[in-house]
Amino acid sequence: MADQTKFLLQDSDVPTHWYNIAADLPKPPPPPLNPGTHEPLGPEALAPLFPMELIKQEVSAERYIEIPDEVQDVYRLWRATPLIRARRLERALGTPAHIYFKYEGASPVGSHKPNTAVAQAYYNREAGVKRIATETGAGQWGTALAMACNFFGIELKVYMVKVSYQQKPYRRSMMQLYGADVVASPSSDTQSGRAILAETPDNPGSLGIAISEAVEDAAGRDDTKYSLGSVLNHVLLHQTVIGQEALKQMEMAGEYPDVVIGCAGGGSNYAGIAFPFMRDKLVGGKKTRFIAAEPEACPSLTKGEFRYDFGDTAGLTPLVKMFTLGHTFIPEGIHAGGLRYHGMANLVCELYDQGYMEARAYHQNAVFDAAVQFARTEAIVPAPESAHAIRAAIDEALAAKEAGEARVILFNLSGHGYFDMTAYDNYLAGGLQDFAYPAQRVREAMASVPVI
Ligand SMILES: *Cc1c(COP(=O)(O)O)cnc(C)c1O
Repeated sequence: MADQTKFLLQDSDVPTHWYNIAADLPKPPPPPLNPGTHEPLGPEALAPLFPMELIKQEVSAERYIEIPDEVQDVYRLWRATPLIRARRLERALGTPAHIYFKYEGASPVGSHKPNTAVAQAYYNREAGVKRIATETGAGQWGTALAMACNFFGIELKVYMVKVSYQQKPYRRSMMQLYGADVVASPSSDTQSGRAILAETPDNPGSLGIAISEAVEDAAGRDDTKYSLGSVLNHVLLHQTVIGQEALKQMEMAGEYPDVVIGCAGGGSNYAGIAFPFMRDKLVGGKKTRFIAAEPEACPSLTKGEFRYDFGDTAGLTPLVKMFTLGHTFIPEGIHAGGLRYHGMANLVCELYDQGYMEARAYHQNAVFDAAVQFARTEAIVPAPESAHAIRAAIDEALAAKEAGEARVILFNLSGHGYFDMTAYDNYLAGGLQDFAYPAQRVREAMASVPVI
C-alpha cells in the first residue's frame, strides 16, 4: 500500500464536548474589568450583549462542556475535517521533518469560523434572540455567521471593514446570499462610525472600529445581541473541536507533534488546534512546542505590551488583559485582513506570558512565498491568514533539515484563499508592500490605553 496521506474520521468521531483550557491553567486568568470603575466585571454586565449560556461558558471552569445535539448535527455537514500529511511539500523542502496540516478550509464557508458561529447562533436562538449585529474583517467571520444565522432563523447585520469590503466583493455577495445585511465600516449607521468618518472620511476601517459599530448597534436595541468571531473565551472553547479531532488523527498516523502551529489574529484557530495538545503539556508533561504566527504589520504578541485594554476602538467593551498594540492602533491594509487586530485572546496571552508557547511575526511577501510554495506542492490555495502558519511550518521544517532532525510538525490550515485572488494577483505582479513595524503609531496608540 502507498504511504498514507489523508487521515479521516467517521461522523461518530466528531467531538461531543468542547475542551475548556481554563480548567487546566496553572493560575486562573485575570478577570475582565468594568471600563468605568476598573472593578472586576460580573457575568451579568455582559447580558445586554450575549445570551446567558454563552456568558456562562465565558467564565466557566468546567473542563469539558457538552456540544448540543443540534450543533453537532450542523458540524457533521463538514466535520470531521481531514488531517493531511504534506508529503509533496516535505519532498520539495528536502526535509526529514514530517509535516501535517488540519484542513479547516473544508467547511462550507472555507474557514474554521463556523465552529463557533453555529454554536453562537444556536444559543441565541435558544434565548429567543431575533437579530444579531457583528463585525467582519476579511469576510470569513461574516460569512460563517450568515450561514449559521440562516440555519437558526436569525436576522444578521454585518459591519465589514471597508478595505476588505472593497478588496473582497464576493465575500460580501456570499453573506448576502445567506440573507445578511452588510455595510462597509466605518459606516454612517452608528454614532461611532459617523464620528470616525467626520474626522477621516477615507478611513480604511479596522476590526476595532467595526466592533465598536456592532457593539453599539446591539447595545442600543432590545431585539439584538452581539456576536464576536474570535478573542473571547467561549469562541476559543468552540474551536477546540479542531485539536480534539487532530489528536485522534495524529494517533491514526502513529505520531505525536513536536511542534503545533497556528496563525493568530484574535487567537481562536490557534487555540482550536493548540489547546487540546497544550493540555498534554500542562497536565501530561509533554514537551511539545507551540508557535503562534502573526503579521509584522500587526504584531500583538511579539511587540505588544501585556496590559488591560479595550477590545474595540471606541472603548465600549470591557477591559481585558492582553498583549496589545493599543485599541486605537489601525494596521496597514495587509491582505491577511483577519489578522489585523490590535489585541489577542486573553487565554493565549496568559500561555505566552507564562512561557508555554512562542510567537513569530512575518512580512507579507515572506508569507505569500510560503503560500505559493504550498499551492504548487499541495494544490490548496491557502488564505493569506493561514499562510502565516505555513511560513512558520516551512521554517520549522528547514530548521529540522539544518539540524538533521526528524521533527513532527502540525499546523492548522485555517482556511482556503479562493476569495483572495486579488491578493495573489498583486503578489504575482510583484506589487506587495512589506510594512516596517509601525513603532511610532503603536507608541501613539499605547498612550491611550488606560493605566490600571
Ligand atoms: C478569521 C481568520 C483568522 C484569524 O482569526 P483567529 O481568531 O486568530 O483564528 C485566521 N484564518 C482564517 C482563515 C480566518 O478566517
